Amino acid sequence: MLSYQHGYHAGNAADIHKHITLILTTQYMLKKPAPIHFFDTHAGKGLYDLSHEQALKKQEFKEGLARALAHRACLTSDAWQHFFHVLEVCPPNHYPGSPLWVSSLKRKTDRHTVFELHPGEHSVLASQGGLEAQQPFADLGRVVYGDGLAGLVRALPPKTPRLFVLIDPAYERLEEYDDVADTVVAALAKCRHAVILIWYPLLTAAKHTELLKRMALLEQPVLQSEWQYKEKPEGWGMYGSGMLIINPPWVLEEQLQESFAPFAEQLRNVDNAAIGHTLKRL
Ligand code: SAM
Repeated sequence: MLSYQHGYHAGNAADIHKHITLILTTQYMLKKPAPIHFFDTHAGKGLYDLSHEQALKKQEFKEGLARALAHRACLTSDAWQHFFHVLEVCPPNHYPGSPLWVSSLKRKTDRHTVFELHPGEHSVLASQGGLEAQQPFADLGRVVYGDGLAGLVRALPPKTPRLFVLIDPAYERLEEYDDVADTVVAALAKCRHAVILIWYPLLTAAKHTELLKRMALLEQPVLQSEWQYKEKPEGWGMYGSGMLIINPPWVLEEQLQESFAPFAEQLRNVDNAAIGHTLKRL
């Protein structure tokens, strides 16, 4: 039984970290003409209304999207430019999820498969994520109701020469960290060159430690980007967002730095917020 619904968290600091990393990686992969198959194992419902009661309950977008908009003048990398452009063409006060960010960039020759296991979220996603196909959004491709981890491994290898995967679970169950690691190992066994993005939360309980250890054992290069968006709490809680990029495009490290360093600096200096961005190779 799935209880998580991303509408409660849409546009939060983790979404901004994840989606800028997603846009950057996609932009760099698209510089080569060979077609890509994009897989999104945990797609969510597509488009989120930030005036809906779910989003208003905890107003997490204040630590994410609202901060990016407030510091927009300093956020000038290609990824940020695309980010703000897409927000402008969305309905007012709405925030796009990962399937829409990919659909705003992909080409006609690319393929796209998105999985969602929550029946309600899936039915919204299946109707184009709540957004009619319009520029710059292409249609979402294949929208599958089912388990994205098993579905991904079954679908590999793709027919396209290149493969891109986003794995973005809610980690409602502790075993999900292991399930993600098992899936990555199985996917790479079928497709060694896959570019895989994994999101994980930075929790005081540090539940992601084992996942990092397993990913550090891969033959493939792994880049880690962590965005700490508030002081680590004394008790229980989430204080940051982590991304692992397996087989990262070679410019990505520099580009992530260029995209996040000015944002972190602004937030520290102007908002006096406890912000840190760290990058390293596992
Ligand atoms: N990737 C989305 C984005 O960036 O906009 C957010 C995804 S949200 C963190 C996680 C989603 O995964 C939820 O909508 C949840 O219903 C769905 N989910 C949970 N377990 C799943 C599974 N095994 N396969 C596919 N979807 C799953």
